[in-house]
Amino acid sequence: MISIKEYKKADSLEEAWQLNQKRANRIIGGMMWIKMGSGSVQTAIDLSGLGLDTIEEDEEQFRIGSMVTLRQLEIHRGLNAYTQGAVKEALRHIVGVQFRNSATLGGSLFGRYGFSDVLTLFMALETKVELYRGGILSLEKFAGMPYDRDILVRIIVKKIPAVCFYQSVRNTDTDFPVLTCCSALLERELRISVGARPGRAMLLKPLLPEETDLLKPPFTEEKGKELGRLAAERIPTDSNMRGSSGYRKKLVQTLVTRAAAHFAEPEEVKNEGKRGESGEKRPVSGEETARRSVQEETAQSVKEEKQSAAEDRA
Ligand SMILES: Cc1cc2nc3c(=O)[nH]c(=O)nc-3n(C[C@H](O)[C@H](O)[C@H](O)COP(=O)(O)OP(=O)(O)OC[C@H]3O[C@@H](n4cnc5c(N)ncnc54)[C@H](O)[C@@H]3O)c2cc1C
Repeated sequence: MISIKEYKKADSLEEAWQLNQKRANRIIGGMMWIKMGSGSVQTAIDLSGLGLDTIEEDEEQFRIGSMVTLRQLEIHRGLNAYTQGAVKEALRHIVGVQFRNSATLGGSLFGRYGFSDVLTLFMALETKVELYRGGILSLEKFAGMPYDRDILVRIIVKKIPAVCFYQSVRNTDTDFPVLTCCSALLERELRISVGARPGRAMLLKPLLPEETDLLKPPFTEEKGKELGRLAAERIPTDSNMRGSSGYRKKLVQTLVTRAAAHFAEPEEVKNEGKRGESGEKRPVSGEETARRSVQEETAQSVKEEKQSAAEDRA
């Protein structure tokens, strides 16, 4: 259990920042993660009076305040229209609606949790983080930084013409993910982030010119397989109670291959089928189909690997 001695609703970001410089004090977002811990906090610093709970959208970008809840993101029409439902798909598995009504964007990103769907999702998009003292920097850079005592004010998501696709694999529906993968075709380049490896989400980075070509359309079946193999090679995985490193490698390969296949589909096929609550179009490959075919494809690739090992031995 956590005990809090004093509570302060900050009147300004400067005041919140000053208070947060003391090690014993702590910023609180939705408190959903903090409350799972133990120990004592001298002063809990509440940001809820600073107007950071809005999603502003214009023609060029979304500006999303750190106190916006996961549920606000999940049901936001503009964000879901822009990402074809990927935002909703990424967040809908996180515990339950009541939980997502409290957990905030700031609390989800500042922690840079290895299991984070939120980090995986926004990393594939063109996302910048605004820190009170640290200024504006890419989410990718922020994810690699060590923890400090700054404050995450908001994120900025640039509205580059995009097609997005989010996938996660979970042992049970609302558990932490075993692997997450978000892919976004931003103009003519595919960005793929993989999280729950179980380390922090990271982008697939091509190193050679021919690898760069793999991330550019058109996406054929062969290219998709190649990209899957490359991702499995480049994205480090590890083991935890939810899955072994080897299993995760197979998942990386499969999810990335599937992502490329998604972008190879003609528009009509991609957008037909399901519609979300708010009527927005969602990718036809929902979680249900995703999980089924991930399992099938993983089983198939394990089988192929065994077969080739047997052939090598013969
Ligand atoms: C049981 C459980 C299951 C979960 N499952 C998933 C899952 O499957 N996928 C997933 O992506 N996430 C999952 N999460 C994480 C969850 O989505 C939230 O990210 C998490 O609870 C933190 O959100 P919060 O607003 O409650 O943050 P808090 O608990 O209030 O804060 C978390 C940390 O962030 C700091 N902080 C908060 N806001 C700011 C800010 N603006 N600037 C600087 N520091 C800040 C706090 O000081 C604290 O250290 C899970 C959490 C729990 C408890």
